[in-house]
Amino acid sequence: MYELMIKTSFASAHNLRDYEGACERLHGHNWRVDVFVKSESLDSIGLALDFKILKEKTKSIVEELDHKYLNEIEPFTEINPSSENMARHLFKRLSEGLIHYPVKVSKVKVWESENACASYYEE
Ligand SMILES: [Zn+2]
Repeated sequence: MYELMIKTSFASAHNLRDYEGACERLHGHNWRVDVFVKSESLDSIGLALDFKILKEKTKSIVEELDHKYLNEIEPFTEINPSSENMARHLFKRLSEGLIHYPVKVSKVKVWESENACASYYEE
């Protein structure tokens, strides 16, 4: 199995509903995102997927969240914009975006600080 990973980042504001503590109040993060895709095979020139495609697809999805108030954006109008839920959202959106490519999204990590991240993957 081959696995590729790219890193990206974005900035946005959020607040966690029903959370008891500082995160209940409006605040921002410089989120970092690690996207992993996997493939069992390579193409004729030895690539699982052109990094350029992976970067472009990820960028278009991340741009939907960049410099936004996340609580006003679907699906975070209904579910909390926690790092965990954001990782799942990005995983699902990116999986749709790559449906016609010979790779599967294997994991998305969302870092809300230098030392804390949440991952989403499916088994
Ligand atoms: Zn926060």
